[in-house]
Amino acid sequence: MAERGLSVLFVEKGPLGHRTEGQDLRADLSDYRARQARGFWPTPIETRIAGEGPQRFFAPLGSGVGGSSVFYAAAAEQPERHDLETTSAMPHPTGGWPVGFDSFRPYFVQAQEALSIRGEKDPLSDLPGPALDAPPLTEAEARMFDDFRAAGLHPYRAHEALRRLPGCTDCLGRKCPRACKMDGRSAGVEPALETGNATLLPNCAVEELIEGQGRITAVRVRAEGRDHLLQADVFVLAAGALNSPNLLLRSTGKHAAGCANSSGCVGHGLMFHLSEMVALWPRRGSPAVGATRTLSFRDLYTHEGQRLGLVQSMGVAADYGQIAGHLKGILARSRLRRVPGASRVATLAAKIGADVFGSATVLVGLLEDLPYVDNRVEPHPDDPEVPLIHYTISDELKARRALFRQAMRRTLGQHRMMLLNFGPSLNFGHSSGTLRFGSDPATSVLDVDCRAHDLDNLYVADASFMPTSMGVNPSLTIAANALRVGDIVATRLAATRRIAS
Ligand SMILES: Cc1cc2nc3c(=O)[nH]c(=O)nc-3n(C[C@H](O)[C@H](O)[C@H](O)COP(=O)(O)OP(=O)(O)OC[C@H]3O[C@@H](n4cnc5c(N)ncnc54)[C@H](O)[C@@H]3O)c2cc1C
Repeated sequence: MAERGLSVLFVEKGPLGHRTEGQDLRADLSDYRARQARGFWPTPIETRIAGEGPQRFFAPLGSGVGGSSVFYAAAAEQPERHDLETTSAMPHPTGGWPVGFDSFRPYFVQAQEALSIRGEKDPLSDLPGPALDAPPLTEAEARMFDDFRAAGLHPYRAHEALRRLPGCTDCLGRKCPRACKMDGRSAGVEPALETGNATLLPNCAVEELIEGQGRITAVRVRAEGRDHLLQADVFVLAAGALNSPNLLLRSTGKHAAGCANSSGCVGHGLMFHLSEMVALWPRRGSPAVGATRTLSFRDLYTHEGQRLGLVQSMGVAADYGQIAGHLKGILARSRLRRVPGASRVATLAAKIGADVFGSATVLVGLLEDLPYVDNRVEPHPDDPEVPLIHYTISDELKARRALFRQAMRRTLGQHRMMLLNFGPSLNFGHSSGTLRFGSDPATSVLDVDCRAHDLDNLYVADASFMPTSMGVNPSLTIAANALRVGDIVATRLAATRRIAS
């Protein structure tokens, strides 16, 4: 929008930050101000999962310029056609997104360009790969690709949003000190500011959307302890899939049920991906690969008529300490934490893996989550800054998870491998679906243009809009949709101005 000459104001709750920072998102830092200063979401979230008692912990959520994406691992993969619509091979669980794959496709390409995506064509797909080639593989990585092909799989170079400038240190899971990792800050906010048409208000939290005559007339913001009202022709909400619905639910000036909520759908349909992690040691005679982010494969994207998801390397190597720490972290959040001796079993499993095989490459399978109306987020009644999550792991999801694990075991069985999860592991960094777009105002919050059905000048451009969570990482689709919404708003404002003049 700024590039098209519109005047844009970014209102960001978190700090501007310094380009030289390179910190990762630390869950063990609990002090509100310390978290805020580093660009972490300052409060914990509270979860009530499958009727289990409340649990509070710090979710992987950013709060600063670029949001959570400055911490992301830069995997930016395009979804499959069946993620957005029904195909002959795979029905869509919602009947399809209101905008089909072919209409989205030009925005996927634009997003790939904006994020400088590098990678290779997926051999199982008819779609071209990203325009930029991936950097060369090491010898050990090339052997890993050969081993996967020998096992009948179709690996390809993962699609990553890294410009790989000289001295690139990968910055996966942490802030990049240069505009080398392409994220919401380097590919979105900074280029917008460079046009001279955009202004940024950091450390400024939107507290309420104020409504009048079917429009948003102003937002009330809080900065340095004082409230202000900001007005605009058009408002684009992009506070993330947990906080955008919370802000609408907290904006009760006109309606007790919250702003844009005549459907009662705001906050509902919350989805995460389930992460299935595997430690993979090289086949006998192949060199150890260690940390790599190079490989993806979609052989299990659908399996036995079920929607599963992408498998990709995570960019971490797992030695004994890491595997043990990881297993214990998962255990601490699972029901098994109460089983006597479970922690010792985790330690032992990690020790055996590391002693016998050495350092492992870690792969992650992203299992698609489907929208259930009762899975939802709302502001915590005692502290509105805390997202309160109600989530039930459905039998259907449990069954697909079991199928995914079985298929991963079978397809990776020629390697020495260890599944690292005990119970289901919800990826709290991949929340989506809480303000879904759709054609029917009774069952969706946003229309086809991602404009609120109830409000003429309120648009949404974050992970909330997605009606289904897809079998890939969400960022490329969030970016593509944001570009689409930007086009819609720019075209609308250009038309209004032509009429006015
Ligand atoms: C460690 C990590 C690794 C990840 N790796 C990947 C990956 O490899 N690939 C991938 O596709 N995805 C990845 N993700 C997920 C991806 O980062 C998110 O899906 C994406 O950033 C969500 O974008 P969003 O715009 O919806 O929200 P966010 O990026 O969370 O942005 C929301 C912004 O809104 C601000 N905000 C919230 N409330 C207010 C308010 N009231 N007033 C003003 N501002 C407010 C927040 O401070 C924040 O800056 C990862 C996430 C994490 C945390």
